[in-house]
Amino acid sequence: MKKLLEISQKLNFTKEDIIYLLSENNTEKRVIIQNISQKIASKLKKDFHSFEHKIDISNYCKADCMFCNSRNSNNKINRFRLNREEIIRRALELHANGCNSILLHSGYDDFYNTDRIAYIIYSIKQQAKIKITLSFGIRELPEYKEWKIAGADSYYLNMITNNSNLYSITNSWNSFEKRIKHIAELKKLGYNVGSGSIFGLPNQTIDDAASDIIFLNNLDLSYIDFCHFNSIKSIHDNINSEEFIRRGVEVAQIVAADKSVRLNDLIN
Ligand code: SF4
Repeated sequence: MKKLLEISQKLNFTKEDIIYLLSENNTEKRVIIQNISQKIASKLKKDFHSFEHKIDISNYCKADCMFCNSRNSNNKINRFRLNREEIIRRALELHANGCNSILLHSGYDDFYNTDRIAYIIYSIKQQAKIKITLSFGIRELPEYKEWKIAGADSYYLNMITNNSNLYSITNSWNSFEKRIKHIAELKKLGYNVGSGSIFGLPNQTIDDAASDIIFLNNLDLSYIDFCHFNSIKSIHDNINSEEFIRRGVEVAQIVAADKSVRLNDLIN
C-alpha cells in the first residue's frame, strides 16, 4: 500500500510508475486508484473537455479503419448524411434546450468540403452562443484555418496508438507522424485541442497503454478522450479488454491531473 500511495502523490510519473498503477490486481488497491482518479476528475474545470452533445453529420467514409463500423468496406450498415440546414437546426435546438457545447463529427466524406463545413459553423455561431468542437479527422491545414475563422473553438484528433506496429494494423487514415504534426498545427491556429488513443486493440499490452498515456500527457492538450476497441474481446497481459480500458482511463487521469480525461467513442 505504501508504494501505491507514494506513486499516486507524485507530480511526474515514470513509465514504471504508470505500469505499476495499470498492473495492480489487488482489489483494495484498485479501489484506491479509482478513488484517486475520480477525485482528480471531480476537481477539474470541464470547459473544453469537449462537448455536451455530438451531432454525427455523416457516416460515409472513404477510410477503412479496421476498428470502425463506418469503414468504407463495411456494407452491412445503412449510410446517412444530414444536410446543412438539418445540422444547423439540430445545433440551435440543442442550444435552446440548454446545451452550450456541441461536437460535429463525421468520417472522411468528400461531400463535406471546406466551405460546407465553414458555412455550418458560421451559421450556428451567428445564431447561438455555443462552443463548437470539430472531429473530422486529418484534413488539410487551410481547412482547419478556415473553420477556425468561421468560429470553431476546439478540434479533436485521435493519435490512435503510439505503437507503430499496432498503428499499422488499425489501417488508420494517414500516418501517426502526420497526426502529431496536425495536433501541433491546430494548437498554433488557436484551437483547444483534444486527442487520445484507442484502448483495447488486439495484442495491446500494458506497456503500450503506459506509452500512450505518457505521450498524450506530453502533448500539452486541452483534454484527452480515449476510445475503446470493442469488436474483439481481447486479453492484455492477463487482463480482459473491459478492465484494461477502465484501468487505462483511470490511470491516465491520475497522470494527466490537469486535464479532463474520459472514455468516448471518437475514433477519427
Ligand atoms: S474511424 Fe473515422 S476515418 Fe476511420 S473509418 Fe471510421 S469514420 Fe472513417
